[in-house]
Amino acid sequence: MPSEDPLKAYRQKRDFRCTSEPSGGEREASASKKSIFVIQKHAARSLHYDLRLEVDGVLKSWAVPKGPSTDPGQRRLAIPTEDHPLEYANFEGIIPEGKYGAGTVLVWDAGTYRNLKAETEKISMGQSIESGMVEVWLEGKKLRGGYALIRTGRGKDHRWLLIKMNDEEADVRRDPTGAEPESVLTGRTLEEIAEEEGDQRKD
Ligand code: MN
Repeated sequence: MPSEDPLKAYRQKRDFRCTSEPSGGEREASASKKSIFVIQKHAARSLHYDLRLEVDGVLKSWAVPKGPSTDPGQRRLAIPTEDHPLEYANFEGIIPEGKYGAGTVLVWDAGTYRNLKAETEKISMGQSIESGMVEVWLEGKKLRGGYALIRTGRGKDHRWLLIKMNDEEADVRRDPTGAEPESVLTGRTLEEIAEEEGDQRKD
């Protein structure tokens, strides 16, 4: 593992006097032994979903423009972004205008996950990400089952694809992002968060 602070890029992009996002002060492991995952719906310049997986004390992150699917036939582009602190998993609210990632954030799904590669091939999550082939079993409120993250391309042009694995949780007819838009934390929609938190900020 690199000894450099994995959250350096995260902190450099943000001014914590201006945003209510966590600074990632504490680097504690999550209370449960299982690793956590979160998917945040983020109405930034363009709407996307941020998939984050707890790996080695931080949240490894990918921005998924179309969001996750339950259909194994759908390949969803996933663009890697900087590691986020674990506390970010509970962040829901507004990132102020003009700041990095400005817009409303909603906790769209959350839960724990298992590294399937550890079970079958004794490969750690760190090694999986390094090799560009990640397989996890999600236990969320909306999403369950196996998901693969596969890196394609080389060097700076590399991209990842998020694909539902073909298991008993696959469902070609479900449209989770369309049918279940609200927060699993608070039940709110993006519009409600924007309205409520926007009001608070004026006080
Ligand atoms: Mn984002």
